[in-house]
Amino acid sequence: MEAEYQTGSVDETWSVARSFAGELKPGDVVALEGDLGAGKTTFVQGLAAALGAKRPVTSPTFCLVVEHPTETLLLVHLDLYRLHGPDDVLDLGWEDYLSRGAVLLVEWPDRAGELIPGDAWHVRLEPGADEDARTIRFMKCRM
Ligand code: ADP
Ligand code: MG
Repeated sequence: MEAEYQTGSVDETWSVARSFAGELKPGDVVALEGDLGAGKTTFVQGLAAALGAKRPVTSPTFCLVVEHPTETLLLVHLDLYRLHGPDDVLDLGWEDYLSRGAVLLVEWPDRAGELIPGDAWHVRLEPGADEDARTIRFMKCRM
């Protein structure tokens, strides 16, 4: 799947996230790319809500990893901003989550380096023409 959407509000970003949520399977890794304020956490909010997660999604910057169980999937939201590399990421229980079939939603995926699998989803959020506009691009590489 390769697709690009323009959104003009948080609600529109949530609606794109809701459509994407239906594509997710156990063990998927979603690399959420984009600068601070791009809308990565906002996107995860829409995605988790669509799948019926009970707990509200906030930025995991200070706790690094937050689990959001849903009826069908365990969503694990990670913010790697403060980490230095793959070893730190492994310490968060990365492999354990994957072996349990969790879906990993990863902000600042560059910190994870080679831990991001070749078949990960890449979702890139970028600022648009005005303050509330965003471009959201989806790429899935099958290698
Ligand atoms: P990140 O996690 O990428 O740092 P956040 O999701 O925490 O970004 O913040 C995005 C900010 O941009 C929020 O304050 C949100 O309300 C605002 N925003 C404005 N328009 C949009 C939009 N179209 N999509 C997503 N966020 C938007
Ligand atoms: Mg964030």
